[in-house]
Amino acid sequence: MDTQLEGTVALVTGASSGIGRAIALALVAQGARVVAGARRADRLTELVAEAGGAVTAVDLDVTDRGAVGRAVARTVAEHGRLDLLVNNAGLMLSGPIVGADPDEWERMVGTNLLGSMFVAHAALPHLLASRGTLVQVSSTSGRIASLGSGAYSATKFGVTAFAEALRQEVTAQGVRVVVVEPGFTATELTTHITDPAMRAMAASLGDSMRTLDPADIANAVVFAAAQPHHVSLNEILVRPTDQV
Ligand code: NDP
Repeated sequence: MDTQLEGTVALVTGASSGIGRAIALALVAQGARVVAGARRADRLTELVAEAGGAVTAVDLDVTDRGAVGRAVARTVAEHGRLDLLVNNAGLMLSGPIVGADPDEWERMVGTNLLGSMFVAHAALPHLLASRGTLVQVSSTSGRIASLGSGAYSATKFGVTAFAEALRQEVTAQGVRVVVVEPGFTATELTTHITDPAMRAMAASLGDSMRTLDPADIANAVVFAAAQPHHVSLNEILVRPTDQV
């Protein structure tokens, strides 16, 4: 992968809203061609319209290994290569561990952790071929566990661990692995929380500070991906200044 993003090919998961959408747009602004994956086709259609042709939408549920394989294959079939994977798709269903609905744990592990692993696995042969870059979106919750985020934190500690093991495996072959750990970013993420008290707590935490904008995280991804190839920015923690 060249140090410039111009002309490179990126696959961004979870690109239909929030951070993934902002990353897709930021990469396009740098001259990359982006394949944007998610489940909500209507949102991806809006993104394609906004990006003016540099984005292709792909139907992608990261928990479905068949769909993951098809999305990666389509990226390479259409563009001939894959230089950058942004493993961003995720969901946060915060709540206490005692009395939790284990279905929510399965959804988070299936999407955040296993989903990221499936996409990495499918993309790696192509990243090895291009000496490309894998960006894994983790979280501050992938560094610090806190009350109410036990299962979510477990998935984010998990992706960070997987990424570090992968880094050790492929760095000598020229594949860079970057973990980006956002703090509180204004997106739809907290709206999916089913526990009313946790959802209210997340909303009031957001109201109490100047939260990050998804574009702030996209800036960090572009900064890491655009480094000269011998520079591997392995971990970037980005918090709002107001977040304690
Ligand atoms: P959003 O809810 O706005 O975006 C989540 C994205 O993930 C959507 O595009 C959604 O698309 C996609 N997604 C969810 N499930 C799946 C699935 N099974 N297959 C494919 N795509 C899926 O939230 P954010 O932008 O905030 O979240 C993006 C990432 O950032 C997540 O990994 C999150 O954990 C992480 N993060 C966010 C923080 C924040 O404060 N917002 C802080 C730290 C980390 P669709 O539903 O269309 O499939």
